[in-house]
Amino acid sequence: MTDAGKRKVRAVKFHIHTYGCQMNVRDSEAVAAMLLAAGHERADGEDDADLVIVNSCTVRQKAEEKAVGKCGNLCAAKRERRQIVGLMGCAVKRLGADVFRRLPSLDFAVGPRRFGMIPKIVADLAADGWPKCGCGANRLELPDEDEIPEGLSAHPDVSAGAVDAFKSYVTVLLGCDNRCSYCIVPDVRGHEYSRPAREVIAEVGCLAARGVKEVCLLGQSVLRYGLRNKAWEDGGGEPFPRLLAALDGIDGLDRIRFTSAHPKGCTDELVRVFRECRKVCRHIHLPVQSGSDRVLREMGRHYTRAEYLAAVAKLRAFDPEFAVTTDVIVGYPGETEEDFEATRSLMDEAGFDNSFIFKYSPRPGTRAAALPDDVPPPEKERRNQALLADQERRGLMRNKMLVGTVREVLVEGPSLRNSARWSGRDAGNRIVVFEPTPSVRAGELVDVRVTEAHPQILVGEVA
Ligand code: SAM
Ligand code: SF4
Repeated sequence: MTDAGKRKVRAVKFHIHTYGCQMNVRDSEAVAAMLLAAGHERADGEDDADLVIVNSCTVRQKAEEKAVGKCGNLCAAKRERRQIVGLMGCAVKRLGADVFRRLPSLDFAVGPRRFGMIPKIVADLAADGWPKCGCGANRLELPDEDEIPEGLSAHPDVSAGAVDAFKSYVTVLLGCDNRCSYCIVPDVRGHEYSRPAREVIAEVGCLAARGVKEVCLLGQSVLRYGLRNKAWEDGGGEPFPRLLAALDGIDGLDRIRFTSAHPKGCTDELVRVFRECRKVCRHIHLPVQSGSDRVLREMGRHYTRAEYLAAVAKLRAFDPEFAVTTDVIVGYPGETEEDFEATRSLMDEAGFDNSFIFKYSPRPGTRAAALPDDVPPPEKERRNQALLADQERRGLMRNKMLVGTVREVLVEGPSLRNSARWSGRDAGNRIVVFEPTPSVRAGELVDVRVTEAHPQILVGEVA
């Protein structure tokens, strides 16, 4: 039992704001689960909370400013609201003790692989009298590069009907050893560590027993699972495809997804698993970053344009509907018009179902930060808008191919835009909107025949 568990701790109401990627969403869920297990409660919102935590991102400067700015606003109001304010996640590791110069009344700052300490910190602060004044306790917890967090498999019990009651993230690979030239993730999230396969299988088994229908396995370069450290007790086969095949056998589970992938991991074995394992969704998030071989080399991505396109072709060879989505960076140092046009043409050749476009942002300490950030902001914006417009056209074209087909949809509930309609996602992670029938329930699979295609959504009727 932890110290927090042994001591009688005053129960507090907590609220967590999460910025950034799915990894952060998952870490926030684990923190919520640990706080609930320690006897604390969720607040209805930040106004109603005794404790507010901001989970931060630092992958781009703007993302960091948003999270730190939010925390600053909370710190300014904490005295009046009698709140404790904490910051967790990637920005904490980047800023280190400097975070308290920026936010002097912050109570605690906890780096990414140490979120398991939060219940203990809360217990310590509560034991000291809570909160005495608007001054910050300034407690800092910075993880080591190889630290294995506590609470990795903690999941909160969520209310029936909520989307997170039937969809869960599961972290399988921590950190990243790729060191792409522009990326700060390896500095803040540390070295790769693959969780033992038996631990992951047990966690997914527990989730399925609780009614979870879909899991998404997380790792920065998730196909590297089991390559730096052993994940399976015996040798036998490629570790990640083998994990997918093992999870495919879990009763009650309907779908398995994963993110993010790298072309080097698109092996014949992975393709075989996609083909043979019914629950493994035919969708891959395969960040390309650029379509120019020169830029890819400078970024240190370890593939060429041709190798990338070959990986996509291999996945679509057995199923032309296989969904491929990507991340792209525009305005990398030295990116010429010709490089940009190469990205544009690659995106058309690959036929991406969806893409996320980012304007290059220099990150301190990365190799690219030493290069001049020489694509002017208006030009980055122009390239960004051009790729977004291309994606609208391409998304519509890809979706039109699906009109008349029947999609198996995991129902999420009333659509955000029009609550008379419901929405869910097909195996390709495409949003499908439809008129619900009386028997349709959130968290169930339903067949929907597609009647209309739009760039970002499919519309259909229950088949
Ligand atoms: N690990 C994933 C991969 O490389 O496949 C991506 C992780 S990163 C959190 C998400 C995306 O942010 C990257 O794919 C990249 O497009 C973008 N990104 C990372 N560093 C960036 C930077 N310095 N400026 C702009 N975008 C960046
Ligand atoms: Fe960053 Fe590259 Fe690792 Fe992705 S693979 S997290 S872009 S270093």
